[in-house]
Amino acid sequence: MYWILVFGGLLLGVLLVIGIGGADMPVVISLLNSYSGLAAAATGFVLSNTVLIISGSLVGASGLILTAIMTKAMNRSLRNVLFGGFGGATDGPSDDDVYGGKVKSTSADEVAMLLKNARRVVIVPGYGLAVARASGPTRVLTELMEQDDIEVAFGIHPVAGRMPGHMNVLLAEENIAYEKLIELDTINPTFAQTDVVLVLGANDVVNPLARDPKSAIAGMPILDVDKAAVCVVVKRSLSPGFAGIPNPLFANENTLMLFADGKQAMDDLVTAYKEA
Ligand code: NDP
Repeated sequence: MYWILVFGGLLLGVLLVIGIGGADMPVVISLLNSYSGLAAAATGFVLSNTVLIISGSLVGASGLILTAIMTKAMNRSLRNVLFGGFGGATDGPSDDDVYGGKVKSTSADEVAMLLKNARRVVIVPGYGLAVARASGPTRVLTELMEQDDIEVAFGIHPVAGRMPGHMNVLLAEENIAYEKLIELDTINPTFAQTDVVLVLGANDVVNPLARDPKSAIAGMPILDVDKAAVCVVVKRSLSPGFAGIPNPLFANENTLMLFADGKQAMDDLVTAYKEA
């Protein structure tokens, strides 16, 4: 019986996670964490050990709450995370429909001029900031702008990056003040009064397709960066993010694309800003 349970458990464990896409792993890890708490609580009942029951329940409940927060921020059900990818993504518009001749690219010099003349700038970091390791020059640029009395804030989406709190950790490592990191619900109403938004390696979390009920990410909360006067997007190409769908933001009237590696782009921006 013991060995049947061991092999049954092993098989179940492998089969439950084998189909889960790379970046869905944090959600599943959080769920498995919660299971470990529930198992500890159950053991506590068997052993009549109150400490195990209480600590197991705490781990179990907090893991479940974190899992629920992550799935809600991605607008996906737990069932969809566990048993399927982004359903229906192939039905969406093609890259040509969305971008065809409408994308405007810009240079670091032009963006530096825009920033110099702005009163309020919001930086929206995403997964690309982490990959490019661009948080260092981002802090330097923030400090330079603040010396010129420009108000700078960071718009933080709950699932930007690849794990909960990913952006908060990267920016905190650079000693960027916590009060400058503003959550989605608080920052969204302020975009209309923002002169320049700098989208730094983010894609899905600023994709206006989420407002289209037929899109694969329909209903996912997004940062309304398209409401700002000018939106500058820093990324290397027009390739999609985690959800695998095009982003009409890149073809918007008021969007400028700065095509470059995130770190290189921010280093160039710092140099151009100092010279502007
Ligand atoms: P996305 O995955 O949507 O997009 C990241 C973008 O970064 C890409 O489009 C890519 O474009 C760009 N990029 C990659 N490398 C670089 C580089 N070196 N320099 C500059 N840009 C770069 O990221 P978001 O943060 O917007 O969204 C997160 C996604 O991950 C969401 O769909 C979310 O649901 C999902 N997710 C998040 C979890 C979390 O807990 N945070 C957990 C599970 C999933 P290009 O290649 O053109 O440069």
